[in-house]
Amino acid sequence: MTRDTTEGATPDPAAPLVSLKNVNKHFGDLHVLQNINLNVARGEVVVVIGPSGSGKSTLCRAINRLETIDDGEIAIDGKVLPAEGKALAKLRADVGMVFQSFNLFAHKTILENVSLGPVKVKGMKSAEAKKLSMELLERVGVDNQANKLPAQLSGGQQQRVAIARALAMKPKVMLFDEPTSALDPEMINEVLDTMVSLAKEGMTMIVVTHEMGFARKAADRVVFMADGQIVEEATPEEFFTNPKSARAKDFLGKIL
Ligand code: ADP
Ligand code: MG
Repeated sequence: MTRDTTEGATPDPAAPLVSLKNVNKHFGDLHVLQNINLNVARGEVVVVIGPSGSGKSTLCRAINRLETIDDGEIAIDGKVLPAEGKALAKLRADVGMVFQSFNLFAHKTILENVSLGPVKVKGMKSAEAKKLSMELLERVGVDNQANKLPAQLSGGQQQRVAIARALAMKPKVMLFDEPTSALDPEMINEVLDTMVSLAKEGMTMIVVTHEMGFARKAADRVVFMADGQIVEEATPEEFFTNPKSARAKDFLGKIL
């Protein structure tokens, strides 16, 4: 069997799907990611929690190289992310990302928003991409909105479209950066429910959120970040009932 470093090599199912080794990142004098080591297993759901400014978004952005790193290594499914070029574009497609702001294309329909990526990036035939997109819209419960424009949908619906759009690229891992913080309270649960069912279906997920209910329901592990460091890691049960570090105790005291 020939082995190819970018495609075709059979990944070791026991190896971490996402692996960060000694990752460092500075913004000028600010050491925003300090020697981060984090492995996420296939099918694992990791919730990242921590005070504002602790580096959670930078961590997410580094994982798909929306942000460069100074040193260290980030690998997706055993393949180290290159800094740039075609190989990067290919690996980046393995990482789906959902942001706080939904970032849908305002002048494209919901269906187009979801089907554009598979056609443009993956070279999928338009009819096939539409079929896939309708299935995904149905899965997140907004298939009846397919021909509308984003502005005609509620925030919760738009965020579910953003999830469908990311899934359309068939990512190996999904990153969520505070996906419900821009939503009105009554819309938070519909998005969290979609994420819980995704987790139950076995999707590997890294989720930055302060939604404790979601963490308790769906997370295998909570990673607590403060000042650019991973301070503590535990199961949700352990973390919420018995945080170890003073930083985590202080943080939970403020949000719970
Ligand atoms: P979090 O998501 O945990 O709130 P961020 O990763 O957004 O934290 O930010 C961590 C720190 O890095 C903050 O102090 C923020 O101001 C700073 N930061 C983020 N992005 C940039 C940037 N592009 N340039 C300079 N500083 C930045
Ligand atoms: Mg953030």
